Amino acid sequence: MDHKLYIHNTLSRKKELFEPLNAPHVGMYVCGPTVYGDAHLGHARPAITFDLVFRYLRHLGYKVRYVRNITDVGHLENDSDAGEDKIAKKARLEQLEPMEVVQYFTERYHHNMDQLNVLSPSIEPRASGHIIEQMAMIEDIFDSGMAYESEGSVYFDVEKYNKQYHYGKLSGRVLDDLMANTRELEGQEEKRNPFDFALWKKAQPEHIMRWPSRWSQGFPGWPLECSAMSARYLGERFDIHGGGMDLMFPHHESEIAQSVAANDTDPAKYWMHNNMITINGQKMGKSLGNFITLNEFITGDHKALERAYSPMTIRFFILQAQYRSTLDFSNEALLAAEKGLDRLMKAWTTLGKLSASDKSSVDTASIRTNCYDAMNDDFNSPIVIANLFEGARIINSVNDKKESLSNEDLQVLRETFSTFIGDILGLKQEEASSGSDATVDGLMQLILDLRKNAKSARDFATADKIRDDLTKIGISVKDTKEGADWSLNQ
Ligand code: ZN
Repeated sequence: MDHKLYIHNTLSRKKELFEPLNAPHVGMYVCGPTVYGDAHLGHARPAITFDLVFRYLRHLGYKVRYVRNITDVGHLENDSDAGEDKIAKKARLEQLEPMEVVQYFTERYHHNMDQLNVLSPSIEPRASGHIIEQMAMIEDIFDSGMAYESEGSVYFDVEKYNKQYHYGKLSGRVLDDLMANTRELEGQEEKRNPFDFALWKKAQPEHIMRWPSRWSQGFPGWPLECSAMSARYLGERFDIHGGGMDLMFPHHESEIAQSVAANDTDPAKYWMHNNMITINGQKMGKSLGNFITLNEFITGDHKALERAYSPMTIRFFILQAQYRSTLDFSNEALLAAEKGLDRLMKAWTTLGKLSASDKSSVDTASIRTNCYDAMNDDFNSPIVIANLFEGARIINSVNDKKESLSNEDLQVLRETFSTFIGDILGLKQEEASSGSDATVDGLMQLILDLRKNAKSARDFATADKIRDDLTKIGISVKDTKEGADWSLNQ
């Protein structure tokens, strides 16, 4: 840990030297997904960003406790205090128990994270498993005078809080301006002002997920979940709180207010926010119809996709931008990422076969130094990648006998590649996506022919079993006009 790591802190709006509260221990909390649908590109970015942070802190020798939650209750539509719970709505539409929806999409999320080589967090708490902690926190907020009850629901009194503290300090907003620009929303009459947010919501008769409390049969508010779970596992004050920029206001702002009211402290020393991904310059959104799930990327099954892209291509594409920059998806950008990744991985393979010369014609230690400098400068992965490309150029030149490397320099380069590509960027070699091995191709053709015969004989059970069993071992089958295509999932 002789490295000086600088992290851009959203709170101070500048890069600060990273000094953990209790080194070598580091506590990091990241807002995880609300599991009511498949993960898309917008989920991949925070997951990969904070995976990079997690991996690098561990590489530096810190003992990191990384908590990333699963929101399984209380996240209402439009992120407001009105509207239906996102998971309950999905359950109603699919005629499922809400926890069936949660289980199904949590497993699919985990599968996608594995494909992207995102490490599991140390703890992955679910909001519904921490109702007691959330109720206790509401009581603490009551004690501070910042909560009030209305019609069985409990709200946070933002105006009162703001008289003593600054509600909006993370996003740099000022409450008076916010109040002037907010209209009264329907169903919000029970609040003292539209900015108050729910700590506890009384459940409507049709609302399935509910718990008894002294206020009403109800459920907790979304920001409260993160406050209670982070305090439970990391303490009232911890090192890093992360999430997407879209969560900064009001979700994270509310988390700060709750912790200050209940625990007399800002929850996190460093707040980190990854920027958003746009699609062809447009914001991503369900209503805009440009949502592309990770599964669709991997199978290529979406009208906006010219073809399938491997999970490592998606990971590399995301790491090619610094996490605080915007990142625009296009087929061209992904194709370029795929090419770049291929060049880097081929060079890494070549590196293993190079033999040393008596002396070096090029310097490799500077590549390692530059990679560390870039990571220490707020996790600047694109600069790391640029330096690795310089390494790849040297590798290819040495391979072509145009340059030479001493044994020592060769070892430095090997160590740099394995540390930065493998351990820190978390990139791994992928098999060719459609099996170059003739034997595998032949076998797959045989299996797909058997499935086709089953389908022609209207034996759909067998056809489905073949497809499902192939999926289980990581081979996805996609029906096409000509028959069927297959690809290996990583
Ligand atoms: Zn959160």
